[in-house]
Amino acid sequence: MEKLSQCPVCKEGKFEAFLQVKDNVVSHETFTINACEKCGFKFTNPRPDEQEIGRYYESEEYIYHSNKKKGIFLSAFHFVRDIAIRNKLKWINTLTPGNSKSMLDYGCGTGEFLSACKRNGWQTKGVETSPSARKHAIEKFGLDVEDLPAFSSLPKNSYDIITLWHVLEHVHRLDEALVTLASLLKTNGHLLIAVPNCSSLDAAHYGANWAAYDPPRHLYHFTPKDMDALLDKHGMKVVKHIPLPFDAFYVSLLSERFKSGKMNYLSGLLTGLRSNWSKGKDSKKCSSITYLISKK
Ligand SMILES: [Zn+2]
Repeated sequence: MEKLSQCPVCKEGKFEAFLQVKDNVVSHETFTINACEKCGFKFTNPRPDEQEIGRYYESEEYIYHSNKKKGIFLSAFHFVRDIAIRNKLKWINTLTPGNSKSMLDYGCGTGEFLSACKRNGWQTKGVETSPSARKHAIEKFGLDVEDLPAFSSLPKNSYDIITLWHVLEHVHRLDEALVTLASLLKTNGHLLIAVPNCSSLDAAHYGANWAAYDPPRHLYHFTPKDMDALLDKHGMKVVKHIPLPFDAFYVSLLSERFKSGKMNYLSGLLTGLRSNWSKGKDSKKCSSITYLISKK
C-alpha cells in the first residue's frame, strides 16, 4: 500500500477521514477516503501502488473492460454504451469541424469508441495499460494502441482532441499525466475528461454505498471545483460541463446492489431519475460529468 502525505491537488499535508468504503466488486476490503483540510479534495488513501493495483481489476464483474454480453444488466450496459459512443463522436466532430482530425484516446479500453472515430475519418491513437484490452483493440479493430510507457514520447502539440472516458480517476501519477496531456494537445485543441461527480445527488443519497467511489480502483473523487483547481495548475481551464445522464441510472442501479446485496431495479431507476431531474439545467450536479477543456 502507498500512503499519500500530500493532497494530489493542492499539496497540503493535512487530511481528515471522510468515509470508509468497501470494495464491493473484487477484494471486499474496506478503504478510507480522505478529504484535504485545505481544498476539500477527496482521495483514496492509503491506496495500492502501481504494482499492486492490477489484482484489484481481476474480476469478471469489472465490466469496463469486458465484452461478454451476459444478462439484462450487461446487455443494457452495452446498448447504452453504443448510444454514448455516438454522442461522444458528435461532440468531437462539432469541436473540430475542419480537415484536421487527429485524436488520442487515453485509456481506450477495448477500443469501441476509438474504432467509431476511425470509421468516421479520424486519425486515431490509443493508449491502454491492460494487455488484454489492448490486444482486443488491436486485433478486433485494427487500431494503433500503445502501452503506457510510450505515452510520454508521443509527438508533442499534435492532437486536436484527447479523450479520457472515466480514466483520470484511475491514474496514479496525476500531475505527470496532465503535464503530458497538455504537451500533446495542439494549442487550440480540446481535452475531454469524463469522471464521476461526488457532489452529485446520487452520491449524497447512497453515501458509502455510492458505486462510483469504487475503491481502490478510483483513486480520486472529483467535484467541478477540484477539476478547476487541478487544471489551473496545468495551464488549462474548463470551458463546458457536459452532463452524462445515463451514468446516474447505471451508478444508482449498482449502488442499490451494494446497499442491499440484490438488484433493486425500481429503486435504482427512480434514484437515477431523481438525480437527473433535480439537477435541472445545472450540469455541475450530474452523477458524472464530461469536462470540455482548453488551454488557457
Ligand atoms: Zn488539497
